[in-house]
Amino acid sequence: MHKSDTIVAVATPKGESALAMLRATGPGCESLCRSIFQDKGPILPRHAYYSAYRSSIGEILDDVVYCFFKGPHSFTGEDVLEISCHGNPLIATRVLEDLIDRGCRQSESGEFSRRAFENGRIDLTQAEAVMELIQARSDKAIRAANNQLRGAFGRQLNSLRQKLIASIATIEAYIDFPEEDLPPEEKKVYVDGIQEIMTYCSRLIDSGRYAAFLRDGVKTLILGVPNVGKSSLLNALLGFERAIVSTEPGTTRDFLSERVIIGPHSIQLLDTAGLRTAQNDIEQEGIRKTIELAKEADIFMVVEDSAAPSPSLPDAILSRLTSANCLLIRNKIDLGMHVLNESDIEYFRKVDLSALTGEGIDRLRSAVVDLVDSHFSSDEDDLILVNARHSLALSELKSCLESALAKLESDDAIELIASDMRGALDAIGSILGKIDNETVLEELFSTFCIGK
Ligand code: GDP
Repeated sequence: MHKSDTIVAVATPKGESALAMLRATGPGCESLCRSIFQDKGPILPRHAYYSAYRSSIGEILDDVVYCFFKGPHSFTGEDVLEISCHGNPLIATRVLEDLIDRGCRQSESGEFSRRAFENGRIDLTQAEAVMELIQARSDKAIRAANNQLRGAFGRQLNSLRQKLIASIATIEAYIDFPEEDLPPEEKKVYVDGIQEIMTYCSRLIDSGRYAAFLRDGVKTLILGVPNVGKSSLLNALLGFERAIVSTEPGTTRDFLSERVIIGPHSIQLLDTAGLRTAQNDIEQEGIRKTIELAKEADIFMVVEDSAAPSPSLPDAILSRLTSANCLLIRNKIDLGMHVLNESDIEYFRKVDLSALTGEGIDRLRSAVVDLVDSHFSSDEDDLILVNARHSLALSELKSCLESALAKLESDDAIELIASDMRGALDAIGSILGKIDNETVLEELFSTFCIGK
């Protein structure tokens, strides 16, 4: 890591566009401004300037807008220069090459964010939120990432850290007086404090599921016997032909996966093989796969032909369905409604529609939004995007606290309890980045894009 050099990257995607943006961070930014733009007057930080970009050999590469940020009041905490040029990838590359000629180094993935982290501008959860924000695929995911970027998660963890530090101080005070035991009243307060932290920790671990659904979309399985219109429904929701619609039963033998935005949610639609007694091995395999997918699905759309009675679903699937996760879709209403046979799934919320004409598709969309909202009710202000790294540290935190509680219970030596509490403190610190582990940091920031 070269902390003191000036790094540069094209921050916008390659390809033709209205504008392209380059940015540089490091001590060389101010003198770069002077030599490239040849402005004699003062360069006011955070002001946009329109100027010709003059290369190191005096050639004008483009007319650009540039903005200089004086550290520490910048994203990285160092001096930063942002240059917007015309969105021709050739121009952006020429500007990049010129900045490298002038002594800048092309940045590696995530190096800007890493500098922001190392200069104390953001904690690790905020650095991760930057990536979450860039990759967010629905309004909800954007809101959660923004929340985290503003430091919501960091603040909660810091307040836990303060509680832990206070409780370590209390218990360590007794280490110096080995003849004294923790008085029972004090022990009770102590145990309550630990339990409170554990409850919060469990809540966070649980919210990892919600975060996964924001990141990957709500896994929604379209189920039903062959020919009820599952593939037609997928196409109708997508608004384009993705699945083969066929009058011959059993044409979707594996499954199709497509992402669609419904209301504020990102939905991952999975169109599965029709559930019936298989005619051959391939179809049998498709059905086995459907049962497998049902284990992990968040919500289900069970499709029936409104004109035909529906046979039962396999028990392995039926046992996963509840009124909170399943919609019963009665398709083909354009053919006229007939009386349906009693079905196993009579008590689910029903939506009548025609995948062919599109009638009722809006009703389905709003039913999906209602279902997802109630299935994943989460306090908007409280959304945290718990990722795999956080989950691991939270589990470690929880097990340290459990161990401390068990030792308190059996009146073990105070030193041992204090050591567990210190383990818990380290676990919280690791989420925030109060760690000294180069490998972890390298791994984390390498997943970022260049220029971020
Ligand atoms: P899948 O096997 O469940 O995926 O069913 P498909 O989507 O392949 O549809 C089977 C047949 O039913 C095709 O001929 C579709 O055109 C037809 N179909 C699907 N939805 C409707 C509908 O709402 N109304 C009518 N009349 N036909 C439909």
